[in-house]
Amino acid sequence: MVSAATTFHPIITRHQNLIKGTVAVAEANRWVVLKFGGTSVSRRNRWDTIGRLAGKRMADEGVRVLVVVSALSGVTNELQAIANGDDVDARIAALVERHRAFCGELDLDADTVLGERLAALQALGTDARVVTRPLDWQAEVLAQGELLSSTLGAAYLRSQGLDFGWCDARDWLDAVSLPNASAWSQRLSVNCRLDGDGFGERFSTQPTRALITQGFISRHGDGSTAILGRGGSDTSAAYFGALLKAQRVEIWTDVPGMFSANPRDVPEARLLTRLHYAEAQEIATTGAKVLHPRSIAPCRDAGVPMAILDTERPELPGTRIDATAATVPGVKAISRRNGIVLVSMESIGMWQQVGFLADVFERFKRHGLSIDLIGSSETNVTVSLDPSENLVTTNVLEALSADLAEICRVKVIAPCAAITLVGRGMRSLLHRLSDIWATFGRQHVHLISQSSNDLNLTFVIDEADAEGLLPHLHAELIRSRAMPVRDATVFGPSWREIAFGAPQRAPAWWRGRREQLLSLAAQGTPRYVYDLATVRDRARSLSATSAVDRCFYAIKANPHPEILRTLVGEGFGLECVSQGEFDHVFATLPHITPSRVLFTPSFAPRREYEAAFERGIIVTLDNIEALQRWPDVFRNRTIWLRIDLGHGEGHHEKVKTGGVAAKFGLPMTRFDAFVEEARKLGIRISGLHAHLGSGIEDPQHWRGVYAHLAGLADGIGTIETIDIGGGLPIPYTPEAPQFDLPLWRAGLEEIKAAYPRYGLVIEPGRYLVAESGALLLTTTQVVEKDGVRRVGCDGGMNALMRPAMYEAYHGIFNLSRDGDTAVFDVVGPICESSDVIGRGRTLPADTAEGDVILVADAGAYGMAMANTYNLRALPAEEAIE
Ligand SMILES: *Cc1c(COP(=O)(O)O)cnc(C)c1O
Repeated sequence: MVSAATTFHPIITRHQNLIKGTVAVAEANRWVVLKFGGTSVSRRNRWDTIGRLAGKRMADEGVRVLVVVSALSGVTNELQAIANGDDVDARIAALVERHRAFCGELDLDADTVLGERLAALQALGTDARVVTRPLDWQAEVLAQGELLSSTLGAAYLRSQGLDFGWCDARDWLDAVSLPNASAWSQRLSVNCRLDGDGFGERFSTQPTRALITQGFISRHGDGSTAILGRGGSDTSAAYFGALLKAQRVEIWTDVPGMFSANPRDVPEARLLTRLHYAEAQEIATTGAKVLHPRSIAPCRDAGVPMAILDTERPELPGTRIDATAATVPGVKAISRRNGIVLVSMESIGMWQQVGFLADVFERFKRHGLSIDLIGSSETNVTVSLDPSENLVTTNVLEALSADLAEICRVKVIAPCAAITLVGRGMRSLLHRLSDIWATFGRQHVHLISQSSNDLNLTFVIDEADAEGLLPHLHAELIRSRAMPVRDATVFGPSWREIAFGAPQRAPAWWRGRREQLLSLAAQGTPRYVYDLATVRDRARSLSATSAVDRCFYAIKANPHPEILRTLVGEGFGLECVSQGEFDHVFATLPHITPSRVLFTPSFAPRREYEAAFERGIIVTLDNIEALQRWPDVFRNRTIWLRIDLGHGEGHHEKVKTGGVAAKFGLPMTRFDAFVEEARKLGIRISGLHAHLGSGIEDPQHWRGVYAHLAGLADGIGTIETIDIGGGLPIPYTPEAPQFDLPLWRAGLEEIKAAYPRYGLVIEPGRYLVAESGALLLTTTQVVEKDGVRRVGCDGGMNALMRPAMYEAYHGIFNLSRDGDTAVFDVVGPICESSDVIGRGRTLPADTAEGDVILVADAGAYGMAMANTYNLRALPAEEAIE
């Protein structure tokens, strides 16, 4: 079962737990390692932050602190250019100047603090080795940035009254030489020894409680300098953390942590507050730049927790990485890597032939290429090459292809993008990924690969197809619950929320009306209560759109008479899908003009069409067969035509009303035939209609529908009206973004300006009424079974079908009490396992029999779908002002 944190904004408290949770008794040898990257050490105020953070850890936790720093930002790139022999003198002079200037900013005397170091840097530029640039000289050059920044920082922190010691990382980290490693990597991309017996004791004899040292550098076997390679400072911190068996390693950077997607592509990406080492490793390897993938293994092996934290926003929870991280299965992140090269090999002989694959792979090895993903079939093997792991130049690929051509037919497919879902228990999630499969169904997928550790699932598609796909996939993962964002122990705020503040949502109407609701509940539950002011407010937000000429309310969402009166009072027409509905409309509003009623049925019997024409309401038809079988019903009539534009949209498979799987709409392939058949019967088609689904989140969807239909309308000639359907969403879950109504409006206004001659009609249902409705229930029993606590209510799937039918989410609140909370499943009284209103919900811990429970946003498709299954009575209804 999902365990949720108890507060909705647990940022601060969780941060405190992060500290307290891992602290034992204060001891002289207990260390916390803090690593700061380039941007975190390049400004004076950042050094103040470093001093403050270090001091706080020592004071609060009684630990000693080791600060590992990178070079000032941009300095390593300059040193790399110098190491390449590029403009050496000018670059060294500029670096000397830069560090002197920074001394000035820190109120330090440059000669006293950095004199020797700057002289050493200058000496490297006049060294005899500058001509041949041997690797040991390059390593020394590259090491200067960290030596300078750490020396500067130690001096500054001391000048601020903090007792900081300085140590040379090369005295503590020893490079190991691996078999098969090239001379280059043995000097400039080394690993370090991790079996330091007594390392902690020796290191702890240094006199100050706080120390500062360098990332990126270590001691080569020959006594000179070796470099850890790119991302090396993270790895240095991890080595120190592992060798010291530190309380934890904190990586301080300029982003809040690891996210469920790259926030640059996906602003809705969620901060991942807790990850298992293996997940973090996978996310770092498949794209996140926050943490170098190499830095995780040392901490994992030593059991040292890691945390990624934001220097500018230290109050955020960051990402905590350890072995105990919640094992909740689910997709934690989605990433995209570009520039992937696929090599597809079509067999001439047989793959099963002994040694055949070995021959193939030997050829990759010969060209120094390491293979990332593999897919194989009877006659084809396709592998991917990741450019971040390989030098994949055209030359290399040509040479490889030539070699492979000796044993098979080769095709190189590039550029491709690898889209990877990362999370524990991927195999158990496949059923939740149907919408993701559907999305990929529209692309050409070259390769699908599922890792043997069950942590990742990768799709390789053309790079061009991947453009803009991630926000869509991310939203789909949340919607299908493959990504369990509601688990507050793992998912933190979204990037958008962090950058721009939490969404400003007006409080629901029922907040602050507790007494009134309790007294209504006292008259009997289950009971629906509708707030008409909310209905009016939503109606006005739509009718204020200048591009929209007419609004019809889809009454199947909620046909309560007061709601119909309210909306007709707001100038809305009413859209009906059955004779029962339009008879109800005329019974409720006997004087309504027939042209304000629209009939859009599905597979209705002949007599309902006849009745509709008799009443003089607008009739929409969506198939030819009806014209052929009942010509007399339609002859010389005016109708609207409902079209299936070939795809459906919406919050759940079951509410998509377009595409081959849906029963609605005339397919485009029969469009011409319909128009011809209608012409023969003297039928005038005056409207075109499409309604592709419900709960569509993309505000640009409707402008697309209008454009599509307007294009068709131009070809018919008799069209006056274009009806782009309903389907506007509401934010049911706490994390759902508010529907971007201004963007929706702007899209319609723009497209209407392009096709001004048609009247634009919308027919929303849910959007107008969902938030106006609350379902009041009474608690019947509270029961614990096998660790799951359930709150039972006197209404369930009989009163509100949406959770059982669509896995829909509704907020659930206890109106009778508040206080300390616990996690419950909220269930109904129906004899079905699917009779669950909400799982893993936070409610007052002492929720008990007789409490009044409010189920929020139940105004649409609530009472309308209620039933008497198990012979339980229908809920009562009440409209209030
Ligand atoms: C149900 C329905 C609507 C309303 O859909 P919502 O998602 O509630 O906005 C609109 N048009 C037709 C034809 C419908 O069947």
